[in-house]
Amino acid sequence: MSEVSRKNMWGDLPKLAMPVAIGQEKRLELKPAALAVLMAVLQEQQKGNHREDGPVLVRMSHLEIMATTGLTTNPVAKGVKELQGRYLNRIKEPSGKGFDNQAFQILHPENGSALDGTGTGSLLFRHDIRYFQVPSEFVTKDEPWCLRRIGSSELMVYVAACFMANQTRENLFDVQARDLRELAGVKSTETFAKALEALVNLGLLSVEQHGRSLSIALCDPWTRTPIHEQLDEDPADDLSSFREPDGRGRTKATSFNLARPVLEQLLKQSLRPGMDEIVMQGNGGWKVVCPYHADRNPSCSVDFDKQRFNCFGCEAKGTLKTLVLKLGDYDTVEYAKRVGGLTGKTIVPRVADSRATGEHVYMDRKGYPKKRILRMPNDLKTGDKVFKQQSRMSKRWVDGGGPKMLYGLERFDFASYVVCVEGEKDADTVNHLELSINGQMACATTSGGAQSWEDHFAAELQGKTVVLMPDADEAGANYRDEIAASLDTRSIPYKVVDFAPHGVKDVTEYLESGRSKDDLLGLITAALGIEAETAEPEAVQAI
Ligand SMILES: [Zn+2]
Repeated sequence: MSEVSRKNMWGDLPKLAMPVAIGQEKRLELKPAALAVLMAVLQEQQKGNHREDGPVLVRMSHLEIMATTGLTTNPVAKGVKELQGRYLNRIKEPSGKGFDNQAFQILHPENGSALDGTGTGSLLFRHDIRYFQVPSEFVTKDEPWCLRRIGSSELMVYVAACFMANQTRENLFDVQARDLRELAGVKSTETFAKALEALVNLGLLSVEQHGRSLSIALCDPWTRTPIHEQLDEDPADDLSSFREPDGRGRTKATSFNLARPVLEQLLKQSLRPGMDEIVMQGNGGWKVVCPYHADRNPSCSVDFDKQRFNCFGCEAKGTLKTLVLKLGDYDTVEYAKRVGGLTGKTIVPRVADSRATGEHVYMDRKGYPKKRILRMPNDLKTGDKVFKQQSRMSKRWVDGGGPKMLYGLERFDFASYVVCVEGEKDADTVNHLELSINGQMACATTSGGAQSWEDHFAAELQGKTVVLMPDADEAGANYRDEIAASLDTRSIPYKVVDFAPHGVKDVTEYLESGRSKDDLLGLITAALGIEAETAEPEAVQAI
């Protein structure tokens, strides 16, 4: 099987295998409707909805095909007819339930025999049928860039581009515009140019034109980023590593392929005060002050359709996301958070273990991940909380290991005050509040559970003023005393906030009981013996 795609052609995106036979003679031999129907049926088969013993039989009603392809009834019927006997064999099933009892056998494109469902691995692969890949979410989802929403010439050009990427074994490839147009079966150069532009605007492809030649990159449609650029990146920098809750306790892909109003707001938010002039352009784009050169008048042109920018002053160019990151000085996490704020979604980093319900990443002071704690579903028998620890090895997470270290170190270089709590969840709670005391940042840390303190952790707290927030129980008191002893040894100033008088166990409960961020700040400043906004932090003494 030397002709199959590289495994990483689509990175982590789920893939749909399509027979390369459809691209014989330098031209896709199927009409758009037939191509769409074939994708719908193969996708249905590949998601496992078929009989395993004997010939594969995919049950898919006419209405289901219409829903998946976005086609009306006649084009679907024509598409099925075109595929009949070559790629599919439609079988009217004896009536059982429902009104549309049809099923499809999938045929070997070279000899027309029905493929057998027995065996493991993908159907085309185990029958030695050469295939190329498209992202399966192109067929299954209902995003603006999906099969059911795009036009027929866009579909043909997109599938032709995926086909060519497979031929060249690269996600980024150069091609003569005419070759791609002919493979797609598009006669008019104008229609072709429009289709290509639409695919770029949808985020499916990125295209650079050099005369008659095109440099084409297949993009992750969720992030609009060329797949090849993501292969060596740390997942923490990669937008495709962010997810949103699906409402059933799991997460699903979140889209960074954003609508114009969201993009406008993102861009506005990222403009620096005093440099936030926006010049509307005749073509609907904007001009803003360029962050890549000393720009006084807006000279950086933004195209919202292509989601790209282009500076006339310094020739900087790139994606709108890159521009927003640069203008706002955001990292990817901040960018994801802002997108969430504008779209009303809670966007969270992906947890690699699909059963995990929460994740706490331990990073060093520079922000590199070192280990993480995954919160797993409770033990079914005992109901106990279950955690799993993983460590970071050459940009991958592996089970077990990881250094003993404090949580939240990546904030320490910016913080004057450090709040010590028990457990990562409470630390996240406090960090989420973005506390500042007298204009100086306060961040939260923990060593983990109440038994986890080690004396050497205190070395990281040199130069800080520490606020201890133990749980209001015996284990919490012991944890507090252990930390206090380490701080005393090093003459690190600290104070204690006690939650017992407030009738709650810890900071998370305190806030959940209806108290506000200001209430918590009041407790902290009272413990520190300073009045918010006035006293100097230097005045704080150890107990
Ligand atoms: Zn510039």
